[in-house]
Amino acid sequence: MSFRNISKEALAGSITLGVVFVAGYFIGKKKSSRMSIFKSHGAGKEDPLLQYVLNHSMREHPVLKSLRLRTMEDSGRMMMVACEQSQFMTNLAKLIKAKKALEIGVYTGYNTLNMALALPDDGVLVACDISEEYANIGKPFWKEAGVEQKIDLRIQPALKTLDDLLSSGQAETFDFVFIDADKVNYDNYYEKSLQLLRKGGIIAVDNVLWGGRVINPAADDRDTVAIDKLNKKLHRDTRINLSMLTVGDGVTIAIKL
Ligand code: SAM
Ligand code: CA
Repeated sequence: MSFRNISKEALAGSITLGVVFVAGYFIGKKKSSRMSIFKSHGAGKEDPLLQYVLNHSMREHPVLKSLRLRTMEDSGRMMMVACEQSQFMTNLAKLIKAKKALEIGVYTGYNTLNMALALPDDGVLVACDISEEYANIGKPFWKEAGVEQKIDLRIQPALKTLDDLLSSGQAETFDFVFIDADKVNYDNYYEKSLQLLRKGGIIAVDNVLWGGRVINPAADDRDTVAIDKLNKKLHRDTRINLSMLTVGDGVTIAIKL
């Protein structure tokens, strides 16, 4: 995937995958095969390489697929994480034997469910959002997958939840954090997450390419400025090792030193 193609593919949190999912929704209604939803859709014609990636790497739990299809019926569906990115992050969590995770920005909980499935039986995922309505879409699927007991959903501003966790003595106890809520607070989320994270733990910062707007000099809106500023800060930050990946709408993987 060339860098030049990113903005087209990643617009509004991965337009390409949005098309994949929407097409998958309609195709998935007709065909029962799990992988069929990633084949035979319009996005493949525009980006056959991404299509190939999906066809040859996705291993989506059946309940996760059901939640994805349900999410595609919601008007906010473009907010959902790219499925191959979610799978990558859960693989990272498994690699570091994560038991305690934090998700900042849940929406319908596709990644929440994926992460909960990846955690051990005694694992816990603190899930932060301000919208009960969105989370209520995901809850029945969390239950159906048998992982609802691992999900500690906190409906209030995420900064408040992070402060609560810090003041209850949970600094340096988290293994994995996914930052994916309001962009203007990204730096605050990053700083508090870094305090909550143990050494060797991982923070994944989503939408770091912001549909390509981070390289558009005319883009001076608050979200773009906040993301670009944090990208530059992370590059210099000696408290972490990092990689900025072009999957989805761009995700930076920061490993606490
Ligand atoms: N991570 C989700 C996924 O995997 O599909 C997508 C999250 S969506 C991009 C962003 C979410 O952040 C929305 O559900 C929104 O309600 C939530 N949000 C926005 N501002 C917030 C805040 N101040 N505190 C907590 N959540 C917030
Ligand atoms: Ca996102």
